[in-house]
Amino acid sequence: NSKSRNDTAVQGTNDNSIVSKCSMCMLGYFQDDFLGRFVAKPVRRAPLINRGYYIRAKAIDHVLKSFLTAYQGIKTQLVSLGAGFDSAYFRLKSEGLLENTVFYEVDFPEVTKRKSDMIQTDEVLLKLVGEDSRIVENGIVSPSYKLIGADLRKFNMLQCLLEHHGIHPDCPTLLLSECVITYMGVKSSNAVIRWASETFSHAVFVTYEQVYPNDGFGAVMQNHFKKLGTPLMNIQRYRTLESQQQRYLDLGWTTVRATDMNHFFTTLIPREEKLRVDSIEVFDEFEEWHLKCSHYAVVCAFKGSTVSLSETIFP
Ligand code: SAM
Repeated sequence: NSKSRNDTAVQGTNDNSIVSKCSMCMLGYFQDDFLGRFVAKPVRRAPLINRGYYIRAKAIDHVLKSFLTAYQGIKTQLVSLGAGFDSAYFRLKSEGLLENTVFYEVDFPEVTKRKSDMIQTDEVLLKLVGEDSRIVENGIVSPSYKLIGADLRKFNMLQCLLEHHGIHPDCPTLLLSECVITYMGVKSSNAVIRWASETFSHAVFVTYEQVYPNDGFGAVMQNHFKKLGTPLMNIQRYRTLESQQQRYLDLGWTTVRATDMNHFFTTLIPREEKLRVDSIEVFDEFEEWHLKCSHYAVVCAFKGSTVSLSETIFP
């Protein structure tokens, strides 16, 4: 039926994401030694795509590291909603940044099963999951890593599974939706955002997605996703950074910060890093690049003790 056809198409967005992330890492835009382990056939993407995935990786990395640094020495939780084949756990673990963190990854069971199979047959990944790992239905868990299959639209089930795997409501928690809730309807994605604010006392909800859908570039992207069978579902309701911010305030969060990728690139990427990026491959589409960056945003919603982070995360 059309519903499961749409779910399959949405799961397919992971394959596209991971290949593009891998392309920009192979070229040296961003260092990640683990992404390639999840990609069967690496492909080199066009420079504009590589840059888009580069700035996305930098922005998410900045937020995750700001959170982990602020809570250094304190037990924390990271919950990657719709994690796909993303490798943040393996990268941060290998950098020694997850000493006190339990890292949860949730996605459709079909996706987590595939990821779990890949981890089980890869010694390097398996070692980072930890020696005391065990296979569960559609996933793999260890004391520091929990890969769990669940549909985010059924958040009662999600809550049960997370509780079963030891999630703690009072532990400082970062929830990440990197190009994920945008594929869910307004009602289901708002339910997830509200569920998170009601469940965790000290939390930050980090969302990376598109904004400003109706001008030239936005309209082209809208069309592109529609054709793929994965329309962006929330974008007409929450078009601007301001409406995104208001969305989280309405759903139980205390403070919200949002930045588009132009602002992030200008304010948080040092000059030497910009020069390094310029030297990686021939690139002359600067106008398109800035246009694209103005259509992608990170929104961080805070509550409890994480509110103090809001002051520093995007100066
Ligand atoms: N977050 C990863 C990243 O940035 O590399 C993957 C992004 S991919 C574009 C979107 C992911 O969200 C897919 O893996 C998809 O299966 C997952 N997803 C979308 N809707 C979901 C739902 N209702 N339940 C579980 N996972 C979902």
